Amino acid sequence: MIIVLKPDSTQQQIDALMARIRELGLRAHLSQGEQRTIVGVIGEEEKLQAQPLQAMPGVEQVLPILKPYKLASRQMHPADTIVTVKAGSNGPEVKFGGGHVSMIAGPCAIEGEEVLAEIARSVKSAGAGILRGGAFKPRTSPYSFQGMGEPGLKILRDVGHSLGMPVVTEVMDPRQVALVERYADMFQIGARNMQNFDLLREVGQCRKPVLLKRGMAASVKDLLLSAEYVLSEGNSQVVLCERGVRTFEDSTRNMLDMAAVPNVQGQSHLPVIVDPSHATGRPDLIPPMSRAAIAAGADGVHVEVHCAPEKAMSDGAQALRPPQFDALMKSLKAIAAVVGKTFH
Ligand code: PEP
Ligand code: MN
Repeated sequence: MIIVLKPDSTQQQIDALMARIRELGLRAHLSQGEQRTIVGVIGEEEKLQAQPLQAMPGVEQVLPILKPYKLASRQMHPADTIVTVKAGSNGPEVKFGGGHVSMIAGPCAIEGEEVLAEIARSVKSAGAGILRGGAFKPRTSPYSFQGMGEPGLKILRDVGHSLGMPVVTEVMDPRQVALVERYADMFQIGARNMQNFDLLREVGQCRKPVLLKRGMAASVKDLLLSAEYVLSEGNSQVVLCERGVRTFEDSTRNMLDMAAVPNVQGQSHLPVIVDPSHATGRPDLIPPMSRAAIAAGADGVHVEVHCAPEKAMSDGAQALRPPQFDALMKSLKAIAAVVGKTFH
């Protein structure tokens, strides 16, 4: 249920309403926008049916929620959410949403300091905002390289921060959250973990932003319900990522659902970015799909880059080389300008 307050409602009226909701054993989520104050009620809505909240001073309208996800819905929060990712506690910031577009780039896995530093310098000079790299890798085979673990996290943070770049890395298990939080500026929840609800709750209790990737067999509704888990724990900084879904098509790694960008943006206030690397698995398709993403209104792009893809320890076949990435960034900046946005 959503309660819309009158434009001239007072703080006292808002406090009384919030207290009444809590008295009923429900949780109240306050969203104070420039134009409107809205209260989302979370919990068993039946408890509210018989309550004449409409009659409380300051209340304009009590609306039943039409979507199964509440906090993630635009009904609840009409303005775009801007997610800010900061390098360390007071380093440079990168933003997604509300007209801000950013590029996340880097290797699939952290392989060592020298390799990462070379990739990082190249993506930074091309215009990437955030450095990525996996220290815990969700590999299909248990015999494939599983990532460097904590030493990798330290390398990622040191390399990224020395260049003034915030860093994002995947966390696969609720037990890893505290460790990853010490080094990363943004948590990545991978496609295979999009419905690991304990993990979603755990990052929801942190105050660092979350990059939530769409599961390979997940609908847009499933994705938004997973975001709801994070939001409902109090972390409002969620960026959604379309990275392709499984279909009968086997000439690409997955099938990129580009319509998900405007589709999600219509239903949710959260920023949406596109990962054409994992969606297509093909370097020849990554630049055109990145351009299509920005043209479709995406709030950012996520691309894997490696200086020597032939030697990469994971996903080398889909990595762009630095010169290809540099050329891509030039065209993305031009397209962003056409849609009234700037990369930073
Ligand atoms: C990755 O970003 O390296 C990754 C494993 O992505 P996904 O979870 O989308 O497969
Ligand atoms: Mn990868």
